[in-house]
Amino acid sequence: MYICLDLGGTHLRGAWLDEQGRHGPVLVLPRKKTLEGTKEVLSELIIKLKKSCPGQVKKIGLATAGPFDRQKKVYLSPTNMPELSGFKVGSFIQEQFALDLILENDAQAAALGEVWQGGLKGENQAIVLTLGTGVGSGVIFDGRIWRAAHDTGPELGHIYLGEGPIERCGCGQFGCAETWLNKKALLDLFARHDLVLNDPKEIWPYIRNEHTGAIKALQEYGHRLGLFLSQLMIIFNIKAIGISGGISSLGTYFLAGTWSMLKQRLQKRPWLLPEKIVVSPDSQMSALWGMARLIALAMRAD
Ligand SMILES: [Zn+2]
Repeated sequence: MYICLDLGGTHLRGAWLDEQGRHGPVLVLPRKKTLEGTKEVLSELIIKLKKSCPGQVKKIGLATAGPFDRQKKVYLSPTNMPELSGFKVGSFIQEQFALDLILENDAQAAALGEVWQGGLKGENQAIVLTLGTGVGSGVIFDGRIWRAAHDTGPELGHIYLGEGPIERCGCGQFGCAETWLNKKALLDLFARHDLVLNDPKEIWPYIRNEHTGAIKALQEYGHRLGLFLSQLMIIFNIKAIGISGGISSLGTYFLAGTWSMLKQRLQKRPWLLPEKIVVSPDSQMSALWGMARLIALAMRAD
């Protein structure tokens, strides 16, 4: 049995899982934006999960935003969680619970989770994008996370998609895919259609009423995603695309726009089109599945 956690800017999520992907309920706790608050919430959730877990816990997996040193299990200077800079999370877990920690980038964990138990189950090669507060990415080659140099994997969200949103990206540049496709970009699109919302989830009543502005905004969001994916297809030509993260649940309403833009951009290169774009069946599980898979692979290698 493993305890798998997903630590984001505002919340910590977790569940127990086994090597077949069976899991308990997902528990979510708010995270205080301090180092002490983060340590407290980590301890609290691990204790709860250990109690409810039906077997002995062998390892803990933590999916989280970086950058961090994966081998040393130390946060470097996380863009959205500066309070965790230098936090030796691996030693902390070892001291508190006498358990080994495996650390992984949240989007890369989500990518592995989607090909293991999610919408792309059984795929050997895939690109998975996590659409939420940020835009994360993971590339799977031969059923494993592709890491490249620095152990980090590709940061596809920082591919330049052209001038547009005036917000500067977290990486310091303008025009990154992330600033076209993150939660804020989607909320700005809704606002342009007179729908001033605090969270993309608030769009559901408007969708149910077939609100023209809501439908148009999501179509435009889909076009943007299609433009981004057309770039990725030219680089990777990987046939299976997964979408996870908070925004992915709106996929039914934006993926038509994504396909139409992809077909337009790759009109003369139809062999570069993906075969499928699949929304995660349970986006809050993606990274947790991925962590369980990583632990199982690591334990097999031990
Ligand atoms: Zn960027």
